[in-house]
Amino acid sequence: MTPIDLRSDTVTRPTAAMREAMARAEVGDDVYGEDPTVNALQERLAGELGFEAGLFAPSGTQANLLGLLSHCQRGDEYLVGMDAHTYKYEGGGAAVFGSIQPQPVLHAADGTLPLDVVAQVIKPRDPHFARTRLLCLENTWHGRALPHAYLREARALCDRHGLALHLDGARLYNAAVADGVAPREIACHFDSVSVCLSKGLGAPVGSVLLGTRALIDEARRWRKVAGGGMRQAGILAAACLHALDHHVARLADDHRRAAELAAGLRGLPGIDVVAQHTNMVFLDIPAPRLAALKQHLDAAAVRVSIGYTPRVRLVTHLDVDDAGIARAIAAFRSFAVE
Ligand SMILES: *Cc1c(COP(=O)(O)O)cnc(C)c1O
Repeated sequence: MTPIDLRSDTVTRPTAAMREAMARAEVGDDVYGEDPTVNALQERLAGELGFEAGLFAPSGTQANLLGLLSHCQRGDEYLVGMDAHTYKYEGGGAAVFGSIQPQPVLHAADGTLPLDVVAQVIKPRDPHFARTRLLCLENTWHGRALPHAYLREARALCDRHGLALHLDGARLYNAAVADGVAPREIACHFDSVSVCLSKGLGAPVGSVLLGTRALIDEARRWRKVAGGGMRQAGILAAACLHALDHHVARLADDHRRAAELAAGLRGLPGIDVVAQHTNMVFLDIPAPRLAALKQHLDAAAVRVSIGYTPRVRLVTHLDVDDAGIARAIAAFRSFAVE
């Protein structure tokens, strides 16, 4: 039985058509700026999202790091959500490589960072304090698309205080598809945006940082320093271009399947469906049942990451079809009645 893998949308494998596009890619040495396919990807995303320039990076972690290193100097500070990927899941890279101090802010229930709290933690210009330089948001956040009115207010706050605004847009395309808007209608509020092509869009590798030409020139320097300068990377960029051509509109299928999965699990004894947004479903399972659930799902070839906390996240993506959703629901049902 082929496993249904709901651990993350990073597990997608390149389709046959994507592999063909990769095989056909024209390439050159991208450290010399001579890979035509990388250049095409960077220019296409810059145009699509409304920025002057883009920079291909091997991971979203690196794209965010390059953004932070380019906006901030040693001793500067960035404001970030307590559960944000850049703060919590990127090894503290901004502090490690940039001596950039994070100022974490507690998320509201809808994933936003309350702007009155953000305003309070902006430091006055005074030698006692780190220089607050940047606010970093994440969209989608736990699958939720941030409200457009909130983005506008965050932009206005940054303008009032002279801060730059960066978006970790690993799943920006999910947010745009869910909101029914062009991605640039979200990106337009930000000074820089990182997007992942390797999540629900289904490319094997690749993120792009977008910003002004000056910011991207600085980021290119930092990418080399970080060891992210790749050579014939057009093979990877071709997969990303293929993803943009063929895998954006279909994100709506992932969102529909996540909603169907949530509906199928709602009301089952011992399974509390906490939330469903875009391609993510969150469940709470009583802690003493977690190990048994894992065993049960493994036996049914349904892969779910179950950690030490009762909160379980299920993620739909390119490699999960309707039959897979039905099988996952059946596996949870048979567990619930066990
Ligand atoms: C996946 C992800 C990233 C980047 O992760 P990489 O694995 O380094 O590509 C950044 N932010 C969010 C919110 C993510 O989900």
